[in-house]
Order: sequence, then structure tokens, then C-alpha cells
Amino acid sequence: MSESLPDGVERRAFDGETRLATRGEPVYGEPTDGEWRAWDPERSKLGGMLELEMNTGLTGGETVLYLGAAAGTTVSHVADFAGPTYAVEFAPRPARDLLDAVEPRDRLFPLLKDARKPETYAHVVESDVDVVVQDVATRGQADVAVRNARFLADDGRLLLAVKARSEDVTADPDDVFDDVLDRLRDVYEIRETRRLDRYHEDHLGVVATPR
Ligand code: SAM
Repeated sequence: MSESLPDGVERRAFDGETRLATRGEPVYGEPTDGEWRAWDPERSKLGGMLELEMNTGLTGGETVLYLGAAAGTTVSHVADFAGPTYAVEFAPRPARDLLDAVEPRDRLFPLLKDARKPETYAHVVESDVDVVVQDVATRGQADVAVRNARFLADDGRLLLAVKARSEDVTADPDDVFDDVLDRLRDVYEIRETRRLDRYHEDHLGVVATPR
């Protein structure tokens, strides 16, 4: 099944269990085997999207803008196989921990910025990035994706995880997802959607391309 995985991501056995893995320094206590580290889909929406074999289009080596980096669980795996990876996180506490993941990775660049204000990092992030990964889990997730579309190359991709409860705790998640997808369609073509519930309750994985 490795054909759908980017170069630098493999399925490998850890303690007899086959898991996704990348090569790099461990970050969150994940199992390791030599230079390989297991990528836990229960702690990573993008890991879940790959486990569910969504067509992310990731091939390895691409330039990535990652929105909602937190302490670096997922973005560290991304930087293990991608090219330059810009990690945006606005909360100082997780951003401090993110620096530990950055330290051994020379292609990972942390930005203590608000993803709702892309103009504050437009001078740092190169234009025409290949992939925007977004996992901000706050109200207005579609708006964040729309505002950051400016960075994407014409043939680039948005890999988005939408958390229904961050938009409205009481609404039916399917209604929330419909609203988010409608807003995304202003600037994106939706290529694939998949509920991530096996790993992340009431989350939707979205693959989209710029219109
Ligand atoms: N993506 C991370 C991972 O898999 O390792 C987990 C991200 S966590 C669910 C959501 C993160 O988004 C939080 O750390 C939060 O501070 C951050 N966030 C929320 N709104 C943001 C914004 N407007 N700009 C930057 N970061 C934001």
C-alpha cells in the first residue's frame, strides 16, 4: 500500500504492529525503531487521513504551510518527509514545545502567528507552496483556509481537518461540515472528504485544490 504514501513515509512494524512511520528524532514519546518513528493517527489528523488512504497527493519533498502546529506532533512528521515546512501556531505555550521539534529539523520553520492574519507572515512564507495543511480546531476554520489560499500554487492542495464541535457544539456535525464545505467552495474545488471518526470523533478530512 506504500504506493499512496509520500516518499519518506512507510508502513513498518513496531512491536508486531504495522504503523505509519517517518525518519527523524522522536517528539511525543512515540515508538521508534532505529531512525524510524511511528506516526500515531490517533494523535494526528493528517496521520488519520493517510491511514484512511485519502488521496492527499503528497509525494515527499514539497513545500508546506502548516496551520495549527501546536507542540509539533504532526508537523514534525511532515518536516521529516517534506521540503521547507512553515509551522504557524499562535499560542505561546505549545509554540515553546514546538521549538524542541524544530531543533533537530533544519527544514522546519516555526512562526508564532495568527493563521487568521496571513498578512503577518506573508513576508516569510514563500509564495506558491505545494501544500497547506490545516488543523486549527477553532471557530471559523473555513475562513482560515480561505484566507491562506493566497499561498497555494495553482496546482497545490489544501489538506484540512475540520472539527465540528469547534464551530458549534450543539449542531449536527454533518450540518457543520456542509457549511464549511460551502464556504470553502468560494476559492477551492473539493476533491475528497472523509469522516475521520475512526481516529478523531466528529472530524472531517478534506482534500481541496485552488479554483
Ligand atoms: N495539528 C496539531 C498536531 O496534530 O500536532 C494539533 C493542533 S490542535 C488540534 C489546534 C492548534 O491550533 C492549537 O495549538 C491552537 O493553539 C492552534 N490555533 C487555533 N487557532 C489558531 C490560529 N488562528 N492561528 C494559529 N494557531 C491556531
